[in-house]
Amino acid sequence: MLRRTFLTTGLAAAAQQRKALKITALETELVINPPRTPNYDALQALGIHSGTVHLRLRTDGGITGYASSNFGAIDGGPKTLQAILENEVKPLIVGQDPAFPKKIRADLFKGLQYQGVTGITQFAIAAADIAVWDIVGKHAGLPVWRMLGAARDRMPVYSMCGWYYDGDADLSKYKKQIETALGQGYRAIKVKTGRYDLADDERRLRVALDMAGRDRRVMLDANQVFSRNEALRRGKLYQQMGAWWYEEALPPHDMDGFAELARELDIRIATGENLYTKHQFNDLIQRRGADIVQPDNRRAGGVTEWMEIAAIADAAGLHLASHGGGDVNMNMLCAIPNAIYMETGGPQERMVNGEVLAPETPGMSTEPKRRA
Ligand SMILES: [Mg+2]
Repeated sequence: MLRRTFLTTGLAAAAQQRKALKITALETELVINPPRTPNYDALQALGIHSGTVHLRLRTDGGITGYASSNFGAIDGGPKTLQAILENEVKPLIVGQDPAFPKKIRADLFKGLQYQGVTGITQFAIAAADIAVWDIVGKHAGLPVWRMLGAARDRMPVYSMCGWYYDGDADLSKYKKQIETALGQGYRAIKVKTGRYDLADDERRLRVALDMAGRDRRVMLDANQVFSRNEALRRGKLYQQMGAWWYEEALPPHDMDGFAELARELDIRIATGENLYTKHQFNDLIQRRGADIVQPDNRRAGGVTEWMEIAAIADAAGLHLASHGGGDVNMNMLCAIPNAIYMETGGPQERMVNGEVLAPETPGMSTEPKRRA
Protein backbone atom coordinates (compact mmCIF):
# COMPACT_ATOMS: atom_id res chain seq x y z
CA MET A 1 0.00 0.00 0.00
CA LEU A 2 1.33 3.46 -0.85
CA ARG A 3 2.09 5.58 2.19
CA ARG A 4 -0.31 8.22 0.95
CA THR A 5 -3.16 5.74 0.55
CA PHE A 6 -2.42 4.31 3.98
CA LEU A 7 -2.51 7.74 5.58
CA THR A 8 -5.73 8.68 3.83
CA THR A 9 -7.56 5.48 4.75
CA GLY A 10 -6.11 5.55 8.27
CA LEU A 11 -7.32 9.08 8.83
CA ALA A 12 -10.69 8.27 7.36
CA ALA A 13 -11.01 5.33 9.74
CA ALA A 14 -10.06 7.54 12.68
CA ALA A 15 -12.61 10.14 11.63
CA GLN A 16 -15.22 7.42 11.34
CA GLN A 17 -14.26 6.25 14.82
CA ARG A 18 -14.80 9.75 16.20
CA LYS A 19 -18.18 10.29 14.54
CA ALA A 20 -20.65 11.18 17.24
CA LEU A 21 -23.48 8.76 17.85
CA LYS A 22 -26.96 9.52 18.94
CA ILE A 23 -29.27 7.24 20.91
CA THR A 24 -32.34 6.84 18.73
CA ALA A 25 -34.49 4.33 20.61
CA LEU A 26 -34.96 2.61 23.97
CA GLU A 27 -36.60 -0.81 23.87
CA THR A 28 -37.41 -3.27 26.64
CA GLU A 29 -38.40 -6.89 26.87
CA LEU A 30 -39.84 -8.62 29.93
CA VAL A 31 -39.14 -12.28 30.66
CA ILE A 32 -40.93 -13.90 33.62
CA ASN A 33 -39.42 -17.26 34.59
CA PRO A 34 -41.51 -20.25 35.59
CA PRO A 35 -41.22 -20.96 39.35
CA ARG A 36 -38.39 -23.32 40.33
CA THR A 37 -37.54 -25.09 43.56
CA PRO A 38 -36.46 -22.25 45.84
CA ASN A 39 -33.13 -21.76 47.59
CA TYR A 40 -33.37 -20.11 50.99
CA ASP A 41 -31.10 -17.80 52.88
CA ALA A 42 -31.74 -16.51 56.40
CA LEU A 43 -34.21 -13.91 55.10
CA GLN A 44 -35.74 -14.93 51.80
CA ALA A 45 -36.82 -17.65 49.37
CA LEU A 46 -35.33 -17.15 45.92
CA GLY A 47 -36.59 -18.61 42.66
CA ILE A 48 -40.35 -18.75 43.17
CA HIS A 49 -40.92 -15.36 41.55
CA SER A 50 -38.16 -14.37 39.18
CA GLY A 51 -37.76 -12.48 35.96
CA THR A 52 -35.52 -10.27 33.85
CA VAL A 53 -35.94 -6.97 32.06
CA HIS A 54 -33.79 -6.69 28.94
CA LEU A 55 -32.88 -3.20 27.78
CA ARG A 56 -31.69 -2.15 24.30
CA LEU A 57 -30.44 1.31 23.36
CA ARG A 58 -30.27 1.77 19.59
CA THR A 59 -28.05 4.38 17.94
CA ASP A 60 -27.90 6.04 14.54
CA GLY A 61 -24.48 4.42 13.98
CA GLY A 62 -25.86 0.87 13.96
CA ILE A 63 -24.40 0.04 17.39
CA THR A 64 -26.85 -1.24 20.00
CA GLY A 65 -26.16 -1.18 23.74
CA TYR A 66 -27.58 -3.92 25.95
CA ALA A 67 -28.22 -4.40 29.66
CA SER A 68 -30.45 -6.66 31.69
CA SER A 69 -31.75 -6.55 35.24
CA ASN A 70 -32.58 -9.78 37.04
CA PHE A 71 -35.01 -10.27 39.89
CA GLY A 72 -34.70 -13.37 42.09
CA ALA A 73 -37.84 -12.43 44.04
CA ILE A 74 -40.84 -10.03 43.91
CA ASP A 75 -43.59 -10.66 41.41
CA GLY A 76 -44.16 -7.10 40.23
CA GLY A 77 -40.52 -5.95 40.27
CA PRO A 78 -39.65 -6.56 36.62
CA LYS A 79 -42.90 -4.99 35.38
CA THR A 80 -42.32 -1.90 37.53
CA LEU A 81 -38.77 -1.57 36.23
CA GLN A 82 -39.97 -1.90 32.65
CA ALA A 83 -42.51 0.88 33.22
CA ILE A 84 -39.83 3.21 34.67
CA LEU A 85 -37.51 2.55 31.72
CA GLU A 86 -40.25 3.08 29.14
CA ASN A 87 -41.98 6.06 30.74
CA GLU A 88 -39.24 7.94 32.59
CA VAL A 89 -35.83 6.96 31.20
CA LYS A 90 -36.72 6.82 27.51
CA PRO A 91 -37.64 10.51 27.08
CA LEU A 92 -34.46 11.55 28.94
CA ILE A 93 -32.03 9.32 27.05
CA VAL A 94 -33.24 9.28 23.46
CA GLY A 95 -31.33 11.92 21.51
CA GLN A 96 -28.30 11.83 23.85
CA ASP A 97 -24.72 11.19 22.72
CA PRO A 98 -23.64 7.90 24.41
CA ALA A 99 -20.04 9.16 24.59
CA PHE A 100 -21.15 11.16 27.68
CA PRO A 101 -22.17 8.56 30.31
CA LYS A 102 -21.61 10.94 33.25
CA LYS A 103 -23.84 13.57 31.67
CA ILE A 104 -26.49 10.94 31.01
CA ARG A 105 -26.32 9.76 34.62
CA ALA A 106 -26.64 13.36 35.86
CA ASP A 107 -29.67 13.91 33.60
CA LEU A 108 -31.30 10.69 34.84
CA PHE A 109 -30.65 11.59 38.50
CA LYS A 110 -32.21 15.01 37.94
CA GLY A 111 -35.11 13.70 35.89
CA LEU A 112 -36.00 10.95 38.38
CA GLN A 113 -35.38 12.91 41.59
CA TYR A 114 -39.08 13.15 42.48
CA GLN A 115 -39.21 9.37 43.04
CA GLY A 116 -35.67 9.38 44.44
CA VAL A 117 -32.66 7.65 42.94
CA THR A 118 -32.70 4.67 45.29
CA GLY A 119 -34.88 1.59 45.09
CA ILE A 120 -36.14 0.38 41.76
CA THR A 121 -35.52 3.76 40.16
CA GLN A 122 -31.80 3.05 40.57
CA PHE A 123 -32.23 -0.34 38.88
CA ALA A 124 -33.38 1.65 35.83
CA ILE A 125 -30.56 4.20 35.98
CA ALA A 126 -27.98 1.43 36.42
CA ALA A 127 -29.32 -0.58 33.46
CA ALA A 128 -29.26 2.53 31.26
CA ASP A 129 -25.68 3.30 32.33
CA ILE A 130 -24.50 -0.25 31.58
CA ALA A 131 -26.14 -0.16 28.13
CA VAL A 132 -24.48 3.22 27.45
CA TRP A 133 -21.06 1.81 28.38
CA ASP A 134 -21.75 -1.16 26.11
CA ILE A 135 -22.13 1.31 23.24
CA VAL A 136 -19.00 3.25 24.27
CA GLY A 137 -16.92 0.07 24.34
CA LYS A 138 -18.28 -1.24 21.04
CA HIS A 139 -17.64 2.12 19.39
CA ALA A 140 -14.02 2.02 20.56
CA GLY A 141 -13.64 -1.67 19.74
CA LEU A 142 -12.54 -2.48 23.30
CA PRO A 143 -13.95 -4.36 26.28
CA VAL A 144 -14.95 -1.77 28.86
CA TRP A 145 -12.43 -2.96 31.49
CA ARG A 146 -9.63 -2.05 29.05
CA MET A 147 -11.21 1.35 28.31
CA LEU A 148 -11.51 2.19 32.01
CA GLY A 149 -7.86 1.40 32.66
CA ALA A 150 -7.18 -2.22 33.44
CA ALA A 151 -5.92 -3.29 36.83
CA ARG A 152 -5.87 -7.00 35.92
CA ASP A 153 -7.09 -9.38 33.21
CA ARG A 154 -8.64 -11.98 35.53
CA MET A 155 -10.51 -12.05 38.83
CA PRO A 156 -10.46 -14.47 41.76
CA VAL A 157 -13.97 -15.88 42.14
CA TYR A 158 -15.91 -17.73 44.80
CA SER A 159 -18.95 -19.93 44.51
CA MET A 160 -22.13 -19.04 46.41
CA CYS A 161 -23.05 -22.68 46.89
CA GLY A 162 -24.26 -23.41 50.42
CA TRP A 163 -27.93 -22.42 50.66
CA TYR A 164 -30.75 -23.78 52.80
CA TYR A 165 -32.90 -26.35 51.01
CA ASP A 166 -36.26 -27.98 51.67
CA GLY A 167 -35.99 -31.45 53.22
CA ASP A 168 -32.30 -31.15 54.04
CA ALA A 169 -32.14 -31.93 57.77
CA ASP A 170 -29.11 -34.21 57.23
CA LEU A 171 -27.39 -31.52 55.09
CA SER A 172 -26.97 -33.98 52.21
CA LYS A 173 -28.09 -31.37 49.63
CA TYR A 174 -25.86 -28.74 51.24
CA LYS A 175 -22.85 -31.07 51.16
CA LYS A 176 -23.56 -32.04 47.55
CA GLN A 177 -23.57 -28.39 46.46
CA ILE A 178 -20.27 -27.70 48.20
CA GLU A 179 -18.72 -30.84 46.74
CA THR A 180 -19.83 -29.79 43.24
CA ALA A 181 -18.37 -26.29 43.63
CA LEU A 182 -15.03 -27.64 44.85
CA GLY A 183 -15.04 -30.11 41.96
CA GLN A 184 -15.54 -27.20 39.55
CA GLY A 185 -12.24 -25.76 40.71
CA TYR A 186 -13.30 -22.99 43.08
CA ARG A 187 -10.70 -21.92 45.61
CA ALA A 188 -13.30 -20.16 47.78
CA ILE A 189 -16.94 -20.82 48.63
CA LYS A 190 -19.72 -18.99 50.44
CA VAL A 191 -22.41 -20.51 52.60
CA LYS A 192 -25.50 -19.02 54.19
CA THR A 193 -25.81 -18.66 57.94
CA GLY A 194 -28.27 -17.36 60.55
CA ARG A 195 -31.55 -18.96 59.47
CA TYR A 196 -31.68 -21.09 62.61
CA ASP A 197 -29.87 -21.12 65.94
CA LEU A 198 -26.19 -20.81 66.74
CA ALA A 199 -25.74 -24.58 67.03
CA ASP A 200 -27.09 -25.02 63.49
CA ASP A 201 -24.72 -22.32 62.19
CA GLU A 202 -21.81 -24.08 63.87
CA ARG A 203 -22.75 -27.44 62.34
CA ARG A 204 -23.02 -26.02 58.81
CA LEU A 205 -19.83 -23.98 59.02
CA ARG A 206 -17.91 -26.99 60.40
CA VAL A 207 -19.03 -29.08 57.40
CA ALA A 208 -18.04 -26.34 54.93
CA LEU A 209 -14.64 -25.73 56.53
CA ASP A 210 -13.84 -29.44 56.67
CA MET A 211 -14.84 -29.94 53.04
CA ALA A 212 -12.91 -26.88 51.87
CA GLY A 213 -9.76 -27.89 53.73
CA ARG A 214 -6.91 -25.63 54.73
CA ASP A 215 -6.15 -24.24 51.27
CA ARG A 216 -9.59 -22.88 50.41
CA ARG A 217 -11.62 -20.08 51.93
CA VAL A 218 -15.16 -20.16 53.34
CA MET A 219 -17.21 -16.97 53.51
CA LEU A 220 -20.46 -16.56 55.50
CA ASP A 221 -23.58 -14.58 54.58
CA ALA A 222 -26.30 -13.79 57.15
CA ASN A 223 -28.58 -11.75 54.85
CA GLN A 224 -29.41 -8.97 57.33
CA VAL A 225 -31.18 -11.03 60.02
CA PHE A 226 -29.37 -10.36 63.28
CA SER A 227 -29.76 -7.72 65.96
CA ARG A 228 -26.50 -5.99 66.90
CA ASN A 229 -26.11 -8.13 69.98
CA GLU A 230 -26.79 -11.39 68.17
CA ALA A 231 -24.53 -10.40 65.27
CA LEU A 232 -21.67 -9.88 67.70
CA ARG A 233 -22.36 -13.12 69.59
CA ARG A 234 -22.43 -15.22 66.43
CA GLY A 235 -19.57 -13.34 64.82
CA LYS A 236 -17.26 -14.33 67.68
CA LEU A 237 -17.94 -17.98 66.93
CA TYR A 238 -17.51 -17.55 63.17
CA GLN A 239 -14.15 -15.85 63.53
CA GLN A 240 -12.95 -18.40 66.05
CA MET A 241 -13.87 -21.21 63.64
CA GLY A 242 -12.00 -19.54 60.77
CA ALA A 243 -14.60 -18.12 58.36
CA TRP A 244 -12.97 -15.66 55.95
CA TRP A 245 -15.63 -12.94 55.86
CA TYR A 246 -18.93 -12.21 57.64
CA GLU A 247 -21.47 -10.69 55.24
CA GLU A 248 -24.64 -8.65 55.90
CA ALA A 249 -24.88 -9.46 59.58
CA LEU A 250 -27.30 -6.53 60.01
CA PRO A 251 -29.91 -4.66 57.97
CA PRO A 252 -28.12 -2.48 55.41
CA HIS A 253 -29.17 0.85 56.93
CA ASP A 254 -27.65 0.04 60.36
CA MET A 255 -24.31 1.58 59.49
CA ASP A 256 -23.42 2.37 63.12
CA GLY A 257 -24.11 -1.28 63.90
CA PHE A 258 -21.73 -2.37 61.15
CA ALA A 259 -19.13 0.02 62.52
CA GLU A 260 -19.55 -1.57 65.96
CA LEU A 261 -19.06 -5.04 64.49
CA ALA A 262 -15.99 -3.94 62.53
CA ARG A 263 -14.52 -2.50 65.74
CA GLU A 264 -15.32 -5.47 67.95
CA LEU A 265 -14.52 -8.37 65.61
CA ASP A 266 -11.35 -9.38 63.81
CA ILE A 267 -13.18 -11.30 61.06
CA ARG A 268 -13.59 -9.24 57.87
CA ILE A 269 -16.96 -7.45 57.82
CA ALA A 270 -18.55 -7.38 54.36
CA THR A 271 -21.69 -5.56 53.26
CA GLY A 272 -23.14 -3.38 50.50
CA GLU A 273 -25.35 -5.45 48.19
CA ASN A 274 -28.38 -3.51 49.42
CA LEU A 275 -26.83 -0.04 49.32
CA TYR A 276 -27.74 2.47 46.62
CA THR A 277 -25.34 4.95 44.99
CA LYS A 278 -21.93 6.17 46.09
CA HIS A 279 -23.60 8.37 48.70
CA GLN A 280 -24.77 5.42 50.81
CA PHE A 281 -21.41 3.68 50.36
CA ASN A 282 -19.70 6.87 51.44
CA ASP A 283 -21.82 6.91 54.63
CA LEU A 284 -20.82 3.33 55.40
CA ILE A 285 -17.15 3.93 54.63
CA GLN A 286 -16.93 7.15 56.64
CA ARG A 287 -18.20 5.22 59.67
CA ARG A 288 -15.68 2.43 59.04
CA GLY A 289 -18.61 -0.01 58.80
CA ALA A 290 -16.94 -2.60 56.55
CA ASP A 291 -13.64 -4.12 55.55
CA ILE A 292 -15.04 -5.23 52.19
CA VAL A 293 -17.72 -3.31 50.26
CA GLN A 294 -19.99 -5.31 47.98
CA PRO A 295 -21.78 -3.23 45.32
CA ASP A 296 -24.54 -4.76 43.22
CA ASN A 297 -24.82 -3.67 39.59
CA ARG A 298 -28.56 -2.93 39.85
CA ARG A 299 -28.72 -1.23 43.25
CA ALA A 300 -25.34 0.49 43.63
CA GLY A 301 -25.50 1.75 40.06
CA GLY A 302 -23.79 0.97 36.78
CA VAL A 303 -20.21 1.38 35.63
CA THR A 304 -20.09 5.12 36.26
CA GLU A 305 -21.24 4.84 39.88
CA TRP A 306 -19.18 1.70 40.62
CA MET A 307 -15.90 3.33 39.65
CA GLU A 308 -16.56 6.12 42.13
CA ILE A 309 -17.60 3.72 44.90
CA ALA A 310 -14.41 1.74 44.30
CA ALA A 311 -12.28 4.89 44.52
CA ILE A 312 -13.92 6.02 47.79
CA ALA A 313 -13.32 2.55 49.24
CA ASP A 314 -9.72 2.51 47.98
CA ALA A 315 -9.01 5.84 49.62
CA ALA A 316 -10.19 4.35 52.92
CA GLY A 317 -8.02 1.27 52.45
CA LEU A 318 -10.97 -1.06 51.88
CA HIS A 319 -11.41 -3.94 49.50
CA LEU A 320 -14.30 -4.48 47.07
CA ALA A 321 -16.05 -7.68 46.02
CA SER A 322 -19.03 -7.81 43.69
CA HIS A 323 -22.51 -8.94 44.64
CA GLY A 324 -23.23 -11.27 41.77
CA GLY A 325 -21.13 -12.28 38.81
CA GLY A 326 -20.99 -12.49 35.05
CA ASP A 327 -19.30 -10.37 32.43
CA VAL A 328 -20.87 -7.05 33.52
CA ASN A 329 -19.19 -7.43 36.88
CA MET A 330 -15.96 -8.66 35.25
CA ASN A 331 -15.81 -5.52 33.09
CA MET A 332 -15.94 -3.34 36.19
CA LEU A 333 -13.88 -5.44 38.61
CA CYS A 334 -10.90 -5.77 36.25
CA ALA A 335 -10.59 -1.96 36.25
CA ILE A 336 -10.71 -1.69 40.07
CA PRO A 337 -7.31 -2.01 41.80
CA ASN A 338 -8.83 -2.79 45.22
CA ALA A 339 -11.21 -5.51 43.93
CA ILE A 340 -10.55 -8.92 45.49
CA TYR A 341 -13.37 -11.24 44.45
CA MET A 342 -16.25 -11.74 42.07
CA GLU A 343 -19.24 -13.67 43.42
CA THR A 344 -20.49 -16.41 41.14
CA GLY A 345 -21.48 -20.07 41.09
CA GLY A 346 -21.74 -23.00 38.76
CA PRO A 347 -19.30 -24.05 36.05
CA GLN A 348 -17.25 -21.19 34.55
CA GLU A 349 -16.07 -21.28 30.93
CA ARG A 350 -12.95 -19.22 31.53
CA MET A 351 -11.77 -20.29 35.01
CA VAL A 352 -8.05 -20.97 35.57
CA ASN A 353 -6.70 -21.69 39.07
CA GLY A 354 -9.77 -20.25 40.75
CA GLU A 355 -9.77 -17.08 38.63
CA VAL A 356 -12.04 -16.11 35.73
CA LEU A 357 -10.39 -14.57 32.66
CA ALA A 358 -11.80 -11.23 31.53
CA PRO A 359 -13.98 -11.11 28.39
CA GLU A 360 -12.33 -9.72 25.25
CA THR A 361 -15.58 -8.84 23.45
CA PRO A 362 -15.89 -5.07 22.82
CA GLY A 363 -18.37 -3.38 25.16
CA MET A 364 -19.88 -4.91 28.29
CA SER A 365 -20.56 -8.43 26.91
CA THR A 366 -24.23 -7.78 27.69
CA GLU A 367 -25.70 -8.72 24.31
CA PRO A 368 -28.06 -11.66 24.97
CA LYS A 369 -26.78 -14.88 23.46
CA ARG A 370 -28.99 -16.10 20.66
CA ARG A 371 -31.31 -18.88 21.66
CA ALA A 372 -30.43 -22.12 19.87
MG1 LIG B 1 -25.19 -11.57 50.25
